[in-house]
Amino acid sequence: MTPRGPARGKSKARADRKQPAAKKTGASKQKAPRKRRLPPPDPARVAELLARLEANDPNPECALDHANPFELIAATILSAQCTDERVNMTTPALFARFPDAASLAAAEQEQVEELVRSTGFFRNKAKNLRGMAARVTEVFGGEIPQAMDDLLSLPGVARKTANVVRGVCWRLADGVVVDTHVGRISRRWGLTAETDPVKVEAELMALVPQAQWIDYSHRVIRFGRRTCDARKPLCGSCELADLCPRIGVDDAAS
Ligand code: SF4
Repeated sequence: MTPRGPARGKSKARADRKQPAAKKTGASKQKAPRKRRLPPPDPARVAELLARLEANDPNPECALDHANPFELIAATILSAQCTDERVNMTTPALFARFPDAASLAAAEQEQVEELVRSTGFFRNKAKNLRGMAARVTEVFGGEIPQAMDDLLSLPGVARKTANVVRGVCWRLADGVVVDTHVGRISRRWGLTAETDPVKVEAELMALVPQAQWIDYSHRVIRFGRRTCDARKPLCGSCELADLCPRIGVDDAAS
């Protein structure tokens, strides 16, 4: 679908923007949105927003480079508190050295630490990677399991990581993956005022059709990279501007 001009839908976004925009301060360019009650988003606006996201990005791919479930689960463990770009720079050497769960399980802690050092929290991540690989090797025959409970039994794997792996590898949707970008942009769109990822996920699951749960996250992350940057969103040229109440966005920053 072709993006529509700002004149057509502005009233829709405004009608949905009962709450005042965040107050500006001279000292802060990007003010974090304060949690507050929002009126339920207009279903027509949400539907149009989802339709445009899909039209503009019909086949979204996971931002983490991977060739199989083992690589994706390892990359997702490394992505905690780290950018996807940094993870993608780190994993080629890691997977060249340890291409599967068995080889990673047999690795020395120091070897893995050295390879993942640049992703931050590297000691804990190396420990989780080795622990994950050991359990996959010993309990699951070297294959990453599909079942949520089995995934959650792996060291370093919480619900978000399990959702990423199940969604990307097997198109199994248990929820909406909420990382910092998905939470931030969904708040700007007025789809949630929550900051707790679990609560954000619950609200998004009520708004986004289940068939789109997996792709919604990928699309929002890619949209954030392309247009809706955390510090400098390109509101002036944004294809969703007429649908966006820009909650928490400082005009001076965009
Ligand atoms: S770039 Fe601006 S207008 Fe576009 S979605 Fe982000 S905050 Fe809204």
